[in-house]
Amino acid sequence: MTKEYTEQREPTHMTPQCSALYEVEKKTRSTGARIGKLRVGDTKMSTPILWLGHRVGGTPKPWQAFHLPGVLMNALDIFATGQASQKAREAGINRYLGLDPSCPTLLDSGGYLYLKRNDLEADPCDILNLYEDLAPTIGAVLDYPLDPFVAIEVNQRRWQQTLVNTRLMFERNGHLTLMPVVHAHSVSQAQKACTELREIIGEPVIVGIGSLVPLMRTHHDGRLLVERTAGQHKSSRHLAVEVIKTVRTEFPDAFLHVFGVGGTTTMHLMFALGVDSLDSIGWRLKAGYGAIQLPGLGDRFTGNEHRRNRTLLIEDAVAKEALIECQCPVCQEHSTFERRLIALDSSFNNRALHNAWVFVQEVNAFREWVKADSVEQFVSQRLQHSPLKSLLPAVFDRISKVDSDGWVGGFNVSEHLRDSAAL
Ligand SMILES: [Zn+2]
Repeated sequence: MTKEYTEQREPTHMTPQCSALYEVEKKTRSTGARIGKLRVGDTKMSTPILWLGHRVGGTPKPWQAFHLPGVLMNALDIFATGQASQKAREAGINRYLGLDPSCPTLLDSGGYLYLKRNDLEADPCDILNLYEDLAPTIGAVLDYPLDPFVAIEVNQRRWQQTLVNTRLMFERNGHLTLMPVVHAHSVSQAQKACTELREIIGEPVIVGIGSLVPLMRTHHDGRLLVERTAGQHKSSRHLAVEVIKTVRTEFPDAFLHVFGVGGTTTMHLMFALGVDSLDSIGWRLKAGYGAIQLPGLGDRFTGNEHRRNRTLLIEDAVAKEALIECQCPVCQEHSTFERRLIALDSSFNNRALHNAWVFVQEVNAFREWVKADSVEQFVSQRLQHSPLKSLLPAVFDRISKVDSDGWVGGFNVSEHLRDSAAL
């Protein structure tokens, strides 16, 4: 039904995203990485950008401590809060959160939460009305993520409903900047989805990709996904990389956001693929289970309890050194390593603030390495201890060999990074 619906109508470009303009300022030679500026109305953003996920009523509010590039919230989360929702709708999202009016805000529709209730009937107009009241910088269309473990027909129905919602929201939209979202679990699906989207809205200035979280996860049986794609990809993560590359190629000039995969390590992989924008709630989640983030390192636990797959901060010399160098608002209040460790271990808010700072600094660092056109070395170093390292050949045009000492083609990445600590 939707197929006819889209094919019988010419692209109408009903609501051109005239207030949104994206300019790429610099591209790199050996990767897809780029830096640029997105302007939406009066709001300007430097890319790549990371939106920190925030929940209604959540603490801490990192924007009270330092400048944030952007904040992401979930429409359903706001809907569900009754009185708070009314207040937010009256005040607008920035005033409600106490954010500076110039701080960019991105609202996700929360379609995946509707799916949990097995509900494909949510009204996109309700979401649009909420967006109009909250006035975020960008609002994502009501979309339904794909699940790699359900029947193909179920996923097809979800994507068709996402297309119907996209058309409806763009038709009814007044002056909001909407983000259409592509969902695909194969390269051919991604190409088709981009074509279908183009038929509805023309060339997008802003576009998102969803449904990649299950492909990037490690704790499911990745083989099943690979079998479903006829063995064309080494792992579900390799497939995710190819989906992103496909959408990037289809919409080379668009501001490209990928939902839900903005961890401190994953972000570098994504940005090197030419993704302009990511979001993450990881700064809170990791703080919640007692871990902090440090540049180029995985989770480090502040406590002293040994458990499987846990690396304790106190037992990692490199992590200790990194913590001593941390300039986050929490660490800056404590001069010694021991005091910092106690401050972080004793408080969720302190860990979350520290993590938020590290997330933002990592994005800033990436941007500087694009300016220096040395993304390949930087990303190789940041991923050298991560399982994501196996994806690097798929990311770099030139395949580089990174050995355990941090050498990329005769160039010692670790030393270079240490020398350029200011980056
Ligand atoms: Zn810190």
